[in-house]
Amino acid sequence: MYGAARGLDNFAMLDVSTGLGLGVVSAGRPVTGNNGLAGELGHITVDARGLLCGCGNRGCLETVATDSAFARRVSETTGRQVEVAEALELLQRGQLLGSDALERTIEYLAIAIAAVINVFNPATLFVHGKLLGADSMIFGRVLDEAKKRSLGVSFEDCRILLAEGNKRVGAIAGVIQSLAEAWAPSWADLHPGKSGGGAPIGKPLSKQF
Ligand SMILES: [Zn+2]
Repeated sequence: MYGAARGLDNFAMLDVSTGLGLGVVSAGRPVTGNNGLAGELGHITVDARGLLCGCGNRGCLETVATDSAFARRVSETTGRQVEVAEALELLQRGQLLGSDALERTIEYLAIAIAAVINVFNPATLFVHGKLLGADSMIFGRVLDEAKKRSLGVSFEDCRILLAEGNKRVGAIAGVIQSLAEAWAPSWADLHPGKSGGGAPIGKPLSKQF
């Protein structure tokens, strides 16, 4: 309903920060799953013996493909605690170019993007993250790597853009979406002729009270 996604029927939003969040709209509807937990891409296992994740599993994508994972790798390299902001500063100064910390993070961010493209086949994929937005060269490298790891047709037909909003905007949109789901007339009510014989397509937007 808002921002760069207005009017788009098939898009995904990948949010990279301390965690890895994904929202998907397919055929004009948010993909929610049974409990609203569909799209938990961050908790698929990419390293069977990897680091313990906040969810209790080991080696989740979230442990390796985030801004925090980048800072952790830089900390390991420098031998001291480095936060995301400082890691990005070191990057801007050119001190991390070619480093294992940067290369591994680029690799896993690309794996995350390729996974979204292969699983959900979005026409537009918005990505949001401090490392991704820090440098157009890095963003380009992530996309080159994601292309290698994606199904060709799905990748070629997908626009991948840096999101221009922020978490606050996203939170407000989420509240509006929730209210709309609770109180708006159902899709079937608004489009009685489009369901092929009167039956609603999928779940109506409104909940029954
Ligand atoms: Zn996890």
